[in-house]
Parts: sequence; C-alpha cells; structure tokens
Amino acid sequence: MIKATQQQTKKHNSQLVLETIYYRGKLSRADVARATQLTRTTVSNVVAELMARGLVEEVGPGTSGGGKTPILVSVASSSHHLVGVEVAGDEMRGAVLNLRGEIIRTAAFPISSRSGHEALALVYQLLDQLVAACGRPLLGIGIGTPGLVDTERGLVRRAVNLDWDDLPLGDLLKARYQMPVYLANDSQAAALAEYTFGGWQPDQNLIVIKVGQGIGAGIILEGRLFQGDGSSAGEIGHMVVVEDGEPCRCGHRGCLETVASVRAMLERAATLAHDAPQSPLAGLTPQVVSLARLQQSLEAGDEVAQQVVAEAGHYLGRAAACLVSALNVRQILLAGPVDCLGQPLLDVIQRELRRHALSPLAEEARLAFGRAGPDAVILGASALLLTRELGLSLTPLS
Ligand SMILES: [Zn+2]
Repeated sequence: MIKATQQQTKKHNSQLVLETIYYRGKLSRADVARATQLTRTTVSNVVAELMARGLVEEVGPGTSGGGKTPILVSVASSSHHLVGVEVAGDEMRGAVLNLRGEIIRTAAFPISSRSGHEALALVYQLLDQLVAACGRPLLGIGIGTPGLVDTERGLVRRAVNLDWDDLPLGDLLKARYQMPVYLANDSQAAALAEYTFGGWQPDQNLIVIKVGQGIGAGIILEGRLFQGDGSSAGEIGHMVVVEDGEPCRCGHRGCLETVASVRAMLERAATLAHDAPQSPLAGLTPQVVSLARLQQSLEAGDEVAQQVVAEAGHYLGRAAACLVSALNVRQILLAGPVDCLGQPLLDVIQRELRRHALSPLAEEARLAFGRAGPDAVILGASALLLTRELGLSLTPLS
C-alpha cells in the first residue's frame, strides 16, 4: 500500500515537472522547483530520470542570479516522434511530428472506395509508410476519424461515411505497430488542436464546429475535452433539421449534413445553377463544382453562390444556437475547408445564431474561423497522444 502510494507520488511529480518544462520552455532546475513547489532534490532526481528517458535535455547556461550559473533544461523536442492521422471523407492524411507538435513529414492517400475494409487497408498503408520514415523512437499514434468514436476503448462505434461499425481500430493498430494508439472523433481532435495550438487566449471553454464532408462539433469545457457519456458529444451532423428532407447515409432524412456539409453545398450549387444560365456555376455537375469555384463565384457576386451560402449558413447558425443555448460557451470557431467561403458564411451563421438563441447568449458569442489550419485534426490527435501518454494537461501553447 505504502509502495503503491510512493509510486503514485513519483509518477505525479514526474508529470508535474515534465509539464512545467514543456509549457515554460527553457528553465533551470531551481525555476522548476519554484514553479512546482517541489524540493530541489526531488526536482533534480526527476529531471535526471526524464533525461534518462530522453524526454528532457540540458540546453546550456542561464543567467546567474549571483551564485553559480544554472544550467537550463528543456523538452528534447526531437528525441521522440509521434504519428498523427486524419481519416477524412475523401482522403487519408498523416504526419510525423516531434514532441512540440511540429510537423516533420506528411503523407496522404485519396479514399476512392466506400468500403470499410479498403479504408482500413489504407490506414495500414499510410501508417506503414509514416512509421517506417520515423528516425526516432515513436511515442505512439493518434488518429482522428469521423463518426462515433469511443476513445477509452479505442473503438469506432459508427462511421457512416466509411462503413465502419464497432471497428476495434485501436486494438488492431496496437497489435500491428506495438505502440500506444489513441483515437478521437475528428471534430473533437480539431477542438483539441484549436485549444492547444490555435493561439487563442486561454478561455477555458471553446466549441469548434467542423464542416467538411461531414459535420461535427468538438467541445472544450473548463480546459478539458468534453466527450459526454459515450465519447460522442458534439455529433451534430446527424441531427435532423429538415423534416422529411433528403435521405442521409445514416438512414434518417434531413440531417444537418444533408443541407450544410461541403458535399450538400456543392450539390445545391449545381442544382440552383441549372436554372441560372448567367451564373459562373451554370452547366457544372455536382462532381465538377468545387469549393474553390463556389468561393470564386461568391466573390464575383453570383446570386447562386450567395444563396448556397445563405442556406447552409442558416442551418449551421441554428446548430450553433443549440450549442450556445445548451452550454453558454462564448468562443465558437468554424473549422474545415469551408473557411475559404470567408466572412459571408460567418455573417449568415452569426445572424441565424442571433435569431435562434436568447439575445444575451447570442450577443456574447464570438464567432470566428479556426486558426489551426488544414492539419488541425492531425495536430489534435497528436495533442491527445501527448496528454494521455506523457500526462500533460491540455494547455494553450503560446
Ligand atoms: Zn444522418
């Protein structure tokens, strides 16, 4: 019992020291002792152990406060690598990153088939390539994937666009690569990335609405990813918003994804442009209309493009109003490839948010595009791996 408690204390001290060094950059052992309230002897022992594990390194002398010049220590960013993967609707992307979340190399494969089996084979292919390319010991693998994901059990409960049902992806990858593997829903991963790497002022709460081939929200509450009872908080894409609307892959009709996802927007653009010969989008099939073309048409003042953005923004604004009303979170970010549609899309969402939520709640909500960029899901999956594997708490990196 006493031994167990001693081990717990040792682990706690180790995490505390590593976290302090990770988030504060270069500092002396005495600085670490002051910041953590641990004794200098304990700090020296813990730092020695972290150096032996390769996680911390000495980086040279600091400034002397009168006595002996202290040696500064820092996280050994390049001592280990990690692999982050985003399973997107139409593409499988991955990256090798260092301990600071800096991307070292990337790889991507298009997902051409809707077969779950083939999608899994692509995950293996991508990871085989990235793992082989790592020149350092690997801390583990983080994966962001659409759908209902049970992070604790490493299970993809349901991903309708990939045809995955109760897929034990975590166990499969652990067995194949013999290293820790963590899974999160892609929107939740995007929220982790925005919170950690987005450079936002550390409000403790944040909602990220990710709009791509699918739609989902990631929710950070009091500095922690809120996943709900079944790891699936924020799964708003399959909320029915149009009674008897278009059929959705999930089996229902009129889900948010059928009217506001990228696919839905492009299909709507092609349909509307069919009767608008003056539109730059006229005559294009849904396969040929791209988000870039929609954006160009929007900038050119095309009424079809304006209507598409107004309709999708209407439903996204209603979804944002639901989230703001339920959680009273003020910072709302829109992430994913729709950021190319810019301020016109944000303006519609903001207007609809005000129409569908009580005025003080809606007025206080700050809506903006995410800053973590196109690698947000990969970065977020890596942040999950760092927090779980090294015991770091989730903190905005400045
Ligand atoms: Zn659906």
